[in-house]
Amino acid sequence: MSERIFNFSAGPAILPVEVLEEARESLLNFQGTGIGIMEHSHRGKAFSGVLAQTIADCRKVAQIPDDYQVLFMQGGASSQFFTIPMNLLSSDDTADYLVTGSWSKKAVAQVKRFGTAHKAASSEDRNFCYIPTETNYSEAPKYVHMTSNNTIFGTQFATEPSVPHGVPLICDASSDIFSRPLDIRKYGMVYAGAQKNLGPSGVTLVIVRNDLVEQANTEIPEMLQYRTFAENDSCYNTPPTFGIFIMGLVFQWILKNGGLEEMGRSNEKKASILYDYLKTSELFSATADSDSQSMMNVTFVTGNELTDKKFIEAATAAGFDGLKGHRSVGGMRASIYNAFPEEGVVELVRFMKDFESKA
Ligand SMILES: *Cc1c(COP(=O)(O)O)cnc(C)c1O
Repeated sequence: MSERIFNFSAGPAILPVEVLEEARESLLNFQGTGIGIMEHSHRGKAFSGVLAQTIADCRKVAQIPDDYQVLFMQGGASSQFFTIPMNLLSSDDTADYLVTGSWSKKAVAQVKRFGTAHKAASSEDRNFCYIPTETNYSEAPKYVHMTSNNTIFGTQFATEPSVPHGVPLICDASSDIFSRPLDIRKYGMVYAGAQKNLGPSGVTLVIVRNDLVEQANTEIPEMLQYRTFAENDSCYNTPPTFGIFIMGLVFQWILKNGGLEEMGRSNEKKASILYDYLKTSELFSATADSDSQSMMNVTFVTGNELTDKKFIEAATAAGFDGLKGHRSVGGMRASIYNAFPEEGVVELVRFMKDFESKA
């Protein structure tokens, strides 16, 4: 393969070519220092500059107010599933969860070690093909946890759910962070593993309001306290320097390309090209309800497993990679994150039409 192909992988996923090109240069010699970016001390001037710039650009991208921290943690979004209740719950506390897919289920499962989880909504009755609109909150939840985009099931919250007054909303935004305008004021915390929309795996972006950091449990290991990261600019230990560097380049790419408004416009356009075709196709159909469909992960089936398999094989051979759906849904999934080009979606639809005409 001498050319880059269309990569529909759900994660790790496609990154902007400009970002990769700049990273390639910096790998050997970062800004004329004679040292590659990965080889610089995390306490030295070069990386300190990268870190400060990355935080500043993150704040600019999402207009993050001063009373929120921007932290870089490790262990993936999955480690946040236990870090959140560990920091915020005592044994007699309850936290409410909106259960909209496999990731929310995994998040709920971690709570019992620290407190009580209450399922305030669930769409499991129909294999998570929709975003529930009814919520049933507990009396005094410490926080409400949601998954804004359900990577596996291809559903996405169109807007923030309403939560009881004064209760912080915590969002796992791993697969749609910075894909559209984000009103951070509506959240106590937003977190995301980088490998879908922000960079390489190995770094987790955590945006958290100061009051949550301050009220968090002090009896847990330092490395698991948000406080430790907030007080040490994420450098209490060695942070994932390369991941932070790439994330910084992605933030600059977002800013250069019109910010979150433009990301939202472009993602909506890409997704509608696919969904519009799925609506009219006699062979393919979307798996998610039309009012709950994700702009990031478009899941679809033919209704026949053998035909799905044939389609995926033919598509892969034609240079459309990563279209196999997650095993819990089957069928196909086209992940079309920020960096995925519109051209690739147009080409995919052309290929699907062609496949349908021959089926
Ligand atoms: C991928 C994903 C995760 C898991 O992320 P890791 O970084 O692998 O732990 C969690 N939540 C959502 C919504 C995801 O898409």
